[in-house]
Amino acid sequence: MTLPSAARGAGCVTRFAPSPTGPLHLGHAFSALTAWDRAQAAGGTFRLRIEDIDRARCRPEWEAAILDDLRWLGLAWPEPVLRQSGRGAAYGAALAQLEALGLVYPCRCTRGDIRAALSAPQEGAPAAGPDAAPVYPGTCRGRSMAEAGPGEAIRLDMARAVRLLDLPAFDETGPARAGRHVPDPARLVSEAGDVVLARRDIGTSYHLAVVVDDAAEGITEVVRGEDLFAATFIHVVLQAALGLPTPAYHHHPLIRDDAGRRLAKRDDARALARYRAEGATPGDIRRMVGL
Ligand code: GLU
Repeated sequence: MTLPSAARGAGCVTRFAPSPTGPLHLGHAFSALTAWDRAQAAGGTFRLRIEDIDRARCRPEWEAAILDDLRWLGLAWPEPVLRQSGRGAAYGAALAQLEALGLVYPCRCTRGDIRAALSAPQEGAPAAGPDAAPVYPGTCRGRSMAEAGPGEAIRLDMARAVRLLDLPAFDETGPARAGRHVPDPARLVSEAGDVVLARRDIGTSYHLAVVVDDAAEGITEVVRGEDLFAATFIHVVLQAALGLPTPAYHHHPLIRDDAGRRLAKRDDARALARYRAEGATPGDIRRMVGL
């Protein structure tokens, strides 16, 4: 295992950041164990973070089940665990910082408005991240924050951000794309675009919350699935804008089902709870995910 200097040694801090929207399955176990093993190998710290900004989809009983599964796997973490639902003030402060730089604007478009504006098919490619959405056509770009109506979304002006900021490169230690990655401003504009930083319903977004919290928790190596690799380029833009350090990243392969589809929360058949009920040991789970 090779670690970049930032991630090596006792200063290494990794994390597992589940959203409590369903049971943990084998893919989550692989992600959590990979983060745990990499912290252990470096003599560092593994942290757990509960990403529960989407209150309509998150449930306390899923959170309890996740903690129980992780303890059963043999993982331990410092308490208290950071829960994103209690971090509204930190996200608000980050948005204010971005507003002071003139990098954000309010957006009143509905999903239907955006679909209607995206007539050219090549513009409809989904942007990165769990909030995957089409690249925004820019309808509201240029509106000032002073005109923001209550409950409007807030977007990043990506073209302005990549023009103004010095974008940092990041070290990737995952097997598929190991090496140093330099963000390409033109691709950020065309492939990520003006991502949402604050959803109208929850006042933040995955991209903003994950960047603010990885920095607040001193994460030196972000371990997560390779489906989030493209999102990392958005995250380094936000780190540059907010004056936050850029950690190393380790995007691991996704665990797939027999048909080659990535596992989703709805795949209860692969839920850890089910293997536990059938008498599997943590060692069996490690073997099943190839660790
Ligand atoms: N909360 C995200 C998820 O469960 C993980 C995000 C991340 O690791 O950056 O998909």
